[in-house]
Amino acid sequence: MTRAFYIGRFQPYHNGHQDVLERIAEVADEIVIGVGSAQLSHEPDNPFTAGERILMITRSLKKIRIPLYVIPIEDIKRNALWVAHVRSMTPPFDLIYSSNPLVMRLFAEEGLPVKSPSLYARELHSGTEIRRRMLRGEPWEHLVPVPVADVIREIDGSARLLQIAADDCAGPVTGGQTF
Ligand code: NAD
Repeated sequence: MTRAFYIGRFQPYHNGHQDVLERIAEVADEIVIGVGSAQLSHEPDNPFTAGERILMITRSLKKIRIPLYVIPIEDIKRNALWVAHVRSMTPPFDLIYSSNPLVMRLFAEEGLPVKSPSLYARELHSGTEIRRRMLRGEPWEHLVPVPVADVIREIDGSARLLQIAADDCAGPVTGGQTF
């Protein structure tokens, strides 16, 4: 019985994350998904709340037939204690999947096995690129699973990102009344 662990910020969850999780689901019995930096939202680099990201992930993985546990995990100031912090918040797991160098390093230093999945068309499938496209009004929906585009539409996510990234000296944007 293998319970795998996969963590990301998922700002937003995209096709690269989906590809990795579908591949993990083929070899693991259960998956624990950590929603990292759970305390952050309404920032240009972190526009979505932990709850919204949980919605994106659970809806996108509906077809996966093994048990999934999606757990929000807040950041802590001490990297050296982070693995213990993660483990205190999650069901026990025996194998970590990550391509994030810091995450890989911190788990390896605790003697836990880490596998690094290959990246799926990384130049396009990154949170940074998707947020950049949302801000510029360029197409981004094809880079995320359909349920993620639906969640972002439901919460008016593109307008939120545009507003929180705006320069307050540049004049009013939508979402407030002028006087
Ligand atoms: P992310 O959403 O950028 O990526 C999640 C995972 O998906 C990573 O393994 C990444 O390599 C992979 N990925 C990204 N694009 C991909 C693609 N196109 N194809 C395949 N895989 C792809 O999130 P992240 O930054 O890796 O998340 C790590 C989280 O852990 C963050 O929230 C971070 O703050 C947290 N963390 C916290 C501490 C602390 O609190 N001290 C320490 C370490 C990590």
